[in-house]
Amino acid sequence: MLQQAIYDRELHEECGVFGIFGVPDAASLTYYGLHALQHRGQEGCGIVSVDADGRFHRVKGAGLVTEVFSGDKLSKLAGSMTIGHVRYSTTGGNTSENIQPFLFRHNSGDFALAHNGNLVNSVQLRQYLENRGSLFQSTSDSEILAHLIKKEARCDRPRIFSIIDALNMLEGAFAFLVMTANRIYACRDKYGLRPLSIGRLHDGYVVSSETCAFDALGAEFLRDVEPGEIVTIDTHGLRSRDYSQYKRRQMCAMEYVYFARPDSDIEGCNVHAFRKETGRILWREAPADADIVVGVPDSSLSAAMGYAEASGLPYEMGLIKNKYIGRTFIQPSQELRERGVRMKLSAVRTIVRGRRVVLVDDSIVRGTTSRRIVAMLREAGATAVHVRIASPPMTNPCFYGVDTSTYDELISARKSVEEVGREIGSDSLAFLSKEALLQAGGRSELCLACYTGHYPTALYQSVTQANKDDK
Ligand code: SF4
Repeated sequence: MLQQAIYDRELHEECGVFGIFGVPDAASLTYYGLHALQHRGQEGCGIVSVDADGRFHRVKGAGLVTEVFSGDKLSKLAGSMTIGHVRYSTTGGNTSENIQPFLFRHNSGDFALAHNGNLVNSVQLRQYLENRGSLFQSTSDSEILAHLIKKEARCDRPRIFSIIDALNMLEGAFAFLVMTANRIYACRDKYGLRPLSIGRLHDGYVVSSETCAFDALGAEFLRDVEPGEIVTIDTHGLRSRDYSQYKRRQMCAMEYVYFARPDSDIEGCNVHAFRKETGRILWREAPADADIVVGVPDSSLSAAMGYAEASGLPYEMGLIKNKYIGRTFIQPSQELRERGVRMKLSAVRTIVRGRRVVLVDDSIVRGTTSRRIVAMLREAGATAVHVRIASPPMTNPCFYGVDTSTYDELISARKSVEEVGREIGSDSLAFLSKEALLQAGGRSELCLACYTGHYPTALYQSVTQANKDDK
């Protein structure tokens, strides 16, 4: 086997959130829930619990779930209600103050908060709040919701109205969990950009960024939180309110293409099934004259299976990922990423030697990873490498919590498909069409902004920042 170091995968989700209401020893279950969401963030994690007397307890820290909750840490988190969080930082940087859940003390009642996504008007809101006396504990934009809730809080009205007022001031992508002494509020942005689902566990409820965490606990999926909806979870069960009448179903396409685990269902569509269908369509749109189909582990394997199935070509394990590379190498910044080697891929020489390979990958961001993989397959003896990408060219940055914040980072923003193909050293290169993504999910809407430049929200400071970063 030929081994070569491959740099860290090129895209990162910002975070995952998880919560439990009404189940004894909720912290231990939340540990397993966060473990199932670990792929959404490896830099830090935390759990806040509320005990029977309404007291809040928190454990959080830098590292993986197994590291942060080692020893007897979970025993500090008494109670049957929790929220938890796994973090990969984009906005706010990688400091311990930015690790969530956040916990706030207030005369209208303490509360904790966990967030997945990215606000595009955070600069304006932070300025607005600081001008009115708010003091921020962190540089994360997630804390903004807490300050808005506190600002809108009044002792003479229920907390939910403060949350609704606060949510209506936010613009961007978010799935928020807010936990008070006796209930959890689960909220999703009105564009539906980030996923959030509710399940049933024993006599209580679970909320999660992805349904794979329900399966890990034996919970039963109930429903998704709808765009623009706030679901209250307490001893009365589930209650729903719309905080916004404007509602879209523009789920981030990259959740299906890359981020989510294949065993998760997002808005009724299984992620593996989605990816496999993109592979089938990719064959129809861009057939290749080849001997075998090889997928890049792990997120491209489903699309590679679909491509193989539709083409009749054998699907082969021509690349193997070493699963035992430690998290030491998982680094958030480009600088550290360039230095840190996260994983090793191995080309299986006896499989690819003398063969014309169709290499199926989920995306090309900077192009460096693709170039290394193509070179590795050639060194292992592949006589041709035809690259097929199960998503369209990424030509625009994401402002909703995925760490492509500048045009400069995106090879397809600067080069044509032919030029990208030459740059990565492939014999041919083709991308999936935008229409195919909608077709694969049976959807009429998705956020496709990183492929089209048509952003579902206003962008406020983000475009200015991206342009500045480009200079
Ligand atoms: S711009 Fe791209 S990565 Fe960002 S939310 Fe939209 S589809 Fe997802």
